[in-house]
Amino acid sequence: MPAPNYRGRFAPSPTGPLHFGSLVAAVASFADARSCGGEWLVRIEDVDEIRRRPDAEPLILGSLQRFGMTWDGTPVRQSERRRLYAYALETLVKKGDAYRCNCSRKQVTETSTRSGPEGPIYPGTCRIDPPAIGAAAAWRVAVPDAEITVLDRVCGPITQNLRNALGDFVVKRIDGYTAYQLAVVVDDHEQGITHVVRGADLLWSTPRQVWLQTQLGYAHPAYAHVPLVYATDGSKLSKRDDAHPVDETHPVQTLSAAWRHLGQSSPSTAIKSVSEFWSWAVPRWHIERVPIDMDRLHD
Ligand code: GLU
Repeated sequence: MPAPNYRGRFAPSPTGPLHFGSLVAAVASFADARSCGGEWLVRIEDVDEIRRRPDAEPLILGSLQRFGMTWDGTPVRQSERRRLYAYALETLVKKGDAYRCNCSRKQVTETSTRSGPEGPIYPGTCRIDPPAIGAAAAWRVAVPDAEITVLDRVCGPITQNLRNALGDFVVKRIDGYTAYQLAVVVDDHEQGITHVVRGADLLWSTPRQVWLQTQLGYAHPAYAHVPLVYATDGSKLSKRDDAHPVDETHPVQTLSAAWRHLGQSSPSTAIKSVSEFWSWAVPRWHIERVPIDMDRLHD
């Protein structure tokens, strides 16, 4: 079904070259966008400038080109969009949704009485007793005791109570960098993204993002989380672990492997070039065939 207003994106963090796991996410979002006649944007998620590797962005963009995934417009960089994030934080502060916090990680661990899937749950110390005016502080959002349900296009409905599972989470770090959860919500909104297709490691970030969208008065994109690629020891392939860069010597075979990982039918062996691959693949993309990443389904 063509969606005339479809706008998707691939949002790599420039922490290393593209690896097979991120190629799978790129292939899924590209195929989903193009099969709907939609646009596909690339956003470089370098909000965390400490983890950014200067050579990673050209490596990733070069790989996308060699795999025949041409983006619309010019890629944007989060490092150039700090004013947008500051404005969104100001909105949250004005609404009374955000508060300053200068608890160290150690203090949070020591004072927390509950642990969730992402570690110790912040007990709200600074919500009750704010840091002195002028002291360096992070910003947290005060989350509600309410269930947030997201209907994922691959994984089905997922529900999370933000207060029980995560507690008040950080949207701006004490070192001044905006946290991923806020930056991604602002960018998806500001770029008019209608469909997010990404790796299942971010499935349980989605309720937080949907809640932030509601608080900021933004529309909610549709979400689809595709299965991760695991290394032989069961760990997720990740740039941070120095996962091997994706094999570009046989790009059609590599694309075909990503395609099969996404549960799609095997391409014909007669395909000789990446452009032939995409002409064959785009009309054959079926999101309903993408397998659910069962390891990530429960938070
Ligand atoms: N930057 C994230 C990553 O490389 C992806 C964020 C997203 O797609 O929302 O894993």
